[in-house]
Amino acid sequence: MRNPDRQNVTAAQYATRDLGFRATVLPETIAAYDALTRAGAALGVKFGHAAFGGAVRTAADTVLAMKYRRDDWAVFARRNPAAAARTTMNAWRPIAEFGSSFHNFGAAFDVFIIEYPDARSVQWAHDQLDTFASKLGLRTGDSFRDEPHFELAIPLSEARLRYAARGSLQCPCCSGKGRVGYSVEQPGR
Ligand SMILES: [Zn+2]
Repeated sequence: MRNPDRQNVTAAQYATRDLGFRATVLPETIAAYDALTRAGAALGVKFGHAAFGGAVRTAADTVLAMKYRRDDWAVFARRNPAAAARTTMNAWRPIAEFGSSFHNFGAAFDVFIIEYPDARSVQWAHDQLDTFASKLGLRTGDSFRDEPHFELAIPLSEARLRYAARGSLQCPCCSGKGRVGYSVEQPGR
């Protein structure tokens, strides 16, 4: 079954996004993403990575994502005032400040479900991915109610150091000064 809520993005747009993802995030993030893709496919679950979380999220991306969220929240609150009164904008759609997100260091991605088996639901598809996550070296966003979010199961400081240590990239918060010995961990060990 095709997910009716899937993001409205053309194949060409998605291909460009995927190139950006593979060119910028940490290699172990790509390895975990690809392993999760294979695990999902074996169950009939197909997914992609979403914009803003699909590659390294810069300060400018964060400003834009927060703007879109404000706009979307305003629409949501107008249409569902009672529901909006029971939550907050950040609980409704969590976006971390720049520098405090694994997305800022190429150590996270957000998924959107494209297909799942007819007898199942989108939630079931998310739950299946969650069960694979820890085996693949990933932490889910469930603890902060961010269902589509996956990140490497390492501290944020470690993600920042690994990102800075790549050399070809500048760490957004320390301009590449936080260099450490860098080795690629194989997720799933
Ligand atoms: Zn995320």
